Amino acid sequence: MMNKGLLIVVSGPSGAGKGSICRQLLNTVSEIKLSVSVTTRNPRSGEVEGENYYFVEKKDFEKLIEKDDLLEYAKVYDNYYGTPRKYVMDHIQQGKDVLLEIDIQGALQIKERYPEGIFVFILPPSMQELKRRIIHRGSETEASLEKRFQSAFEEINYVKKYDYCVVNDHLDQAVERVKAIIKAEKCKVTKD
Ligand code: 5GP
Repeated sequence: MMNKGLLIVVSGPSGAGKGSICRQLLNTVSEIKLSVSVTTRNPRSGEVEGENYYFVEKKDFEKLIEKDDLLEYAKVYDNYYGTPRKYVMDHIQQGKDVLLEIDIQGALQIKERYPEGIFVFILPPSMQELKRRIIHRGSETEASLEKRFQSAFEEINYVKKYDYCVVNDHLDQAVERVKAIIKAEKCKVTKD
């Protein structure tokens, strides 16, 4: 029988650089598929429908919830975000690895429903550096900046719920660590 693909869940506070890590991972390991999330938030400049997110109205998001089309969903900073179930499950069944870049609430839901997943938490080198990165990004208003700092501080405590943590001190090295985790997981002996 064909082995199932891996479900790789990457989370971390905003500014930890999980987006950059995931992008570089996907660019260098073409076999990994990215699960594109659905969100009710407005597109940021440069974001592309179907590539960064599927941007939908709240009522359409609620329909997806009703139809149980989402593997998980969460409200993050006043907007809804969710993972389309079918894309993920189809690819895993076909033996393909799928990457989810989602928040902690969503990751914990997946852990309940799909404990075989691999849960990776990205940490910034320091809280000071995290703050600098969030400000540097410049896409936030003053109020949402404060909100992101606050949740980043709280979120770091959740690292213990994950299987692995990767400190993003240097992007290339952090990506190599994630690749090593995936390689090791592929060599794991299944106990059933
Ligand atoms: P952003 O608005 O900066 O793109 O994302 C905000 C947060 O939502 C990030 O922590 C991101 O990982 C998370 N996120 C993105 N997609 C999903 C998803 O499908 N489900 C959940 N639970 N969180 C998501």
